[in-house]
This record gives sequence, structure tokens and C-alpha cells, in this order.
Amino acid sequence: MRRSEVSEEQYERWHITGCCRCGQRKFKAGTWPDGHVCRTCHDRALRIRGRCPGCDQDRVLPGLGGEQDRTPICPDCAGFRTSFRCSRCETEGKLHGARLCTRCTLSDRLRELLADESGEIRPELAPLAKALLDARKPLSILGWLYTRKGQTGSPETLLRQLGRGEIELTHQAFHTLQPWRAAAHLRELLMACGVLPRVDKQICSFERWLIAHLDTVADQDHRQLVQRFATWEVLPRLRARAATKPITAASRYFAGDQIKQATAFLGWLAARHHSLRSCDQADIDTWYAEHREHERHRLRGFLLWSMASKLIPRLRVPTPVVVRNPPMAHHERMALLGQLLNNDDLPLRPRVAAVIVLLYAQPLSRIVRLTIDDVLHDGDQVLLRLGQPPSPIPTPFARLLLTWIDKRDNMNTATNPNSRWLFPGRRAEQPMHPRSLADLINKLGVPTSTARTGAIRQHVLEMPAPVVADALGYHPVTTAKIATQAGVTWSRYAPGDHTRTGDS
Ligand SMILES: [Zn+2]
Ligand SMILES: [Zn+2]
Ligand SMILES: [Zn+2]
Repeated sequence: MRRSEVSEEQYERWHITGCCRCGQRKFKAGTWPDGHVCRTCHDRALRIRGRCPGCDQDRVLPGLGGEQDRTPICPDCAGFRTSFRCSRCETEGKLHGARLCTRCTLSDRLRELLADESGEIRPELAPLAKALLDARKPLSILGWLYTRKGQTGSPETLLRQLGRGEIELTHQAFHTLQPWRAAAHLRELLMACGVLPRVDKQICSFERWLIAHLDTVADQDHRQLVQRFATWEVLPRLRARAATKPITAASRYFAGDQIKQATAFLGWLAARHHSLRSCDQADIDTWYAEHREHERHRLRGFLLWSMASKLIPRLRVPTPVVVRNPPMAHHERMALLGQLLNNDDLPLRPRVAAVIVLLYAQPLSRIVRLTIDDVLHDGDQVLLRLGQPPSPIPTPFARLLLTWIDKRDNMNTATNPNSRWLFPGRRAEQPMHPRSLADLINKLGVPTSTARTGAIRQHVLEMPAPVVADALGYHPVTTAKIATQAGVTWSRYAPGDHTRTGDS
């Protein structure tokens, strides 16, 4: 009965009742031996599984035992009149339409959505169907597929289009799909199950962004120039880098900023009644005088490429000046560490990440790639594998880290079951985004970049630069440079003598 067809009062009387489990007045999902249950309590009770204390069988335990102990017991022992067995596979649990369990319901749904002309799942998509069906929580996959009110597209629509072959199984096809969040998620699933070849996630995101950005460029010439710059300069650079290691979020944003800056520069020239062809030294000098250092840094690539491509004559492009924030002072770092380790009111996830920055001078792009397998146990000592040898973890932090590992959130999301990432993200098989983690850490008041430079500086003051490099995964040249800046003269210690024997 639809809500609109009955009066509010009738609807209330029929469907809303006090739940015998939680005591709240809610929509009635069923009548059980102990009374009416609401949807939440109904579903929650059917997730409890184990050995029934009444009959010693391994089953779902939605019932409640005696008045006092209220231990979960099986439907038979609790005197349920209905069964929770799936009419097809006999699995016990929450039942959907036609008395089918969640997995059988999902299986039918996928067959319907991913079907080709023959009515069976399109063969290329079989691995996708399998991956979705094998998810630890099929119910959340069903929820994910569902079309939300007021939304034009949904994962459901995308799957149906895939099944009918209306979406090509190429990365190119996915760049423009809407809704983009669902499309990005789906693309990651397709890569995870091998239907689409693996490509760098950041490059995917950059390419998708680029299409949207080009659409905003009104001037056709500008648009073409920016596209050429992206195709022949920015993307090949990213791809070459991705061949050796994953692109960091920072590199992807820098690439995007280069494109934005190039677009803005062309607009600026046009406002001066110039085009790229007529751009001269005076234009460049004026632009440099009017813009800030970070903008200059981002335009440089476009100017150099334009010259190399003979789009503008050889002009003088000023060399960038790099200004860095001074490293955080030792006492400040120690005070922050103390707060992070002791203040249990702070959220655990950014606390743990911030301590890794402060103790081990790790960039967030590497912290998000740590897995729980990088946390090692040697007797009572807990170690973190950042390089060789693994770094010992001081006891207060070890406690914090192990608590976090137990509690990691995002674990139950449909596409990230059994994640090994220390900071699992919301996308399939992906860790958290370094920028999201940075936001959370900044909210704690920890400036990650100065904290990291402060920490690495302290490490090279306490240990020889090459040892620091190996243990914390830094390049030896970097640590040597930091050591020189910090005024350390470790070279006078014999190799192998890694203990600090005096003030240097
Ligand atoms: Zn309830
Ligand atoms: Zn029983
Ligand atoms: Zn079933």
C-alpha cells in the first residue's frame, strides 16, 4: 500500500509500531516471538551467526534466549514461525523478494543488468559479476546499485549500458561517463578484476579532469593549444613517470595547475590583444612582474614547450626561485608528538598518520601506501618497515598504531573488503587519498611539510645520513644534502659506527 493512498493516521496504525528490541517507534519489519521488530533491529539480528546455545547448531541467531540473559538463539529454538532460509540456496539470513537471500538476489540483479542480447551475462563482464558477487557484504553492493531519488544516472544504469555494449570497455570511454563518481568506482573495479588494463589512477583522474576543463575554454584556438600542450607535453611526462612508480596526488595536481595556468596565460595575452604567435619578451616580463612565484612556476613548462614547438620565438624565461618553509624546531615537534600520543579525544586516523610524519619524516604519499604487513612484531618490539632495517616503534605509539589497525574504518565498504592498506580508502583496492589524509592532519593543527623537514633534520643529526636514507626510504643524496645544511660532519666517523659518540 502506497503512502499516498492512505491517511497519515491509517499508515501509522498499520506500519509504525514500537520495536520490541530498541524501543523506538519505527516502521515494522516483522513480528517475532518477542514482538514487533523495526527494520534496523531485524537486519541486525539476522547478521548474528554462530552456534546456537539451545540446539548447538551453527545458524543465524535472530532470537533471544531467556528473559535474563537475552543471548542470541536460532529461529527454531526461539519459536519463530517463519524460516530465514533462502528458497534457492538455503542459506539463512535476511530474505528479499521471492524469499531469496541477499547473494541470490544480487546474482539475479547482476544477470539482469549485465545481460547481452542472449539474456546471459556478457562474457567479457563475467569477472566483474564475479567480483561483485564475491564481495564480503553483498547487501552494500545491492545498495550501491540502487538508483537514488532525483538522480539521473546510477551504477545500475552504467552496468546496464555495459551489458548492452553501449559503453566500450576502454579507459577512453570512461573519461566522460556520468555520474562520474560511480563511473570512476566502476572503472577501478574493472581494473581490479582485470577487465580493463591497469592504468595509473592519478592519470585517469587527470584525463577526466582535462576533458571537463577543455569544455570550459571558450576560445577555440586556446582550447586547441592547451589540448596540444596536454597531449604532447604533460601527459607523456606523467606516463613516463608512472612507468616506474605510481603518480602522486601532488604531481597530478601540479599537472592540472600547469594546464590551468597555460589557459589563463592565453586569456591574459588575448586581453592585451596578443596571441601566442605574437607573444614577445615584453609580454613575458610583464606577466612575470604581475604574477606570484607559484604561478610562474606553473607556467614555465608551457612557455618552454611553446618555444621548443616553435609556437613562440626564443625568449628569456626567468629561472624560478624556490622558497621553503624552515623546518619545525625540535622542541615544537616533541610538544606536538606529546599531544598526539596522549590526547585520546583526537580522531585516531589522522593522529596515527601525523605521528608517522613527526617520528619518521614520511611524506603522506608514502604513508598512504603502507600496509598492515609493514607493521612487524619482534618479540615485544613493534617495528615499522619504511626501509632497511625496519624502524622500531616506541611503546606509546605502538599501542596507538595497533589500536588503529584493529579499528580501521572504511573496511566495510563494499569494494574494499579485507584491505591490507594501513589507511584504506573508499575506492576498490585503493588506499586513502593523500590529500584527504592531509586535510584530516591539518585539522589537528599539524603542519605536515615543516613537521617532516624538522623530523628528517633531527634524524640526520642523530645518525649518519646514509643510514637514515636506508631506514626511512630517502635518497642518499637528499639526506646528505640535509646533513650539510644542518652542519653535520658525520663523515669523520668510521663506517659501521652508527652510534652517536659525541657532539658533532
Ligand atoms: Zn528496533
Ligand atoms: Zn537452536
Ligand atoms: Zn540464496
